[in-house]
Amino acid sequence: MPKGIPIDHAGQRFGRLTVLGRAPGRYSTGAVCWLCRCDCGTEKVVAGQSLRAGLSRSCGCLRRETTAARNRARAAARHCQACETIPG
Ligand SMILES: [Zn+2]
Repeated sequence: MPKGIPIDHAGQRFGRLTVLGRAPGRYSTGAVCWLCRCDCGTEKVVAGQSLRAGLSRSCGCLRRETTAARNRARAAARHCQACETIPG
């Protein structure tokens, strides 16, 4: 493949993201932009290098869910500690 021609990610999946095709323009870093659709239905433009590096695997919903799950776990742990401190 000649240098300068970006890798074609169209149709590939990265985590929850399915690459729909090249998005116009490039990032300031020179990275090629790809239009992706997340499993939740949100479309997002992501840099090809972020996809390849595994930095972008959802529109952001994955992180939101992970954070929510962590918060729930923390709340549950707090609840348990509270139970344990009840005398008796
Ligand atoms: Zn999503």
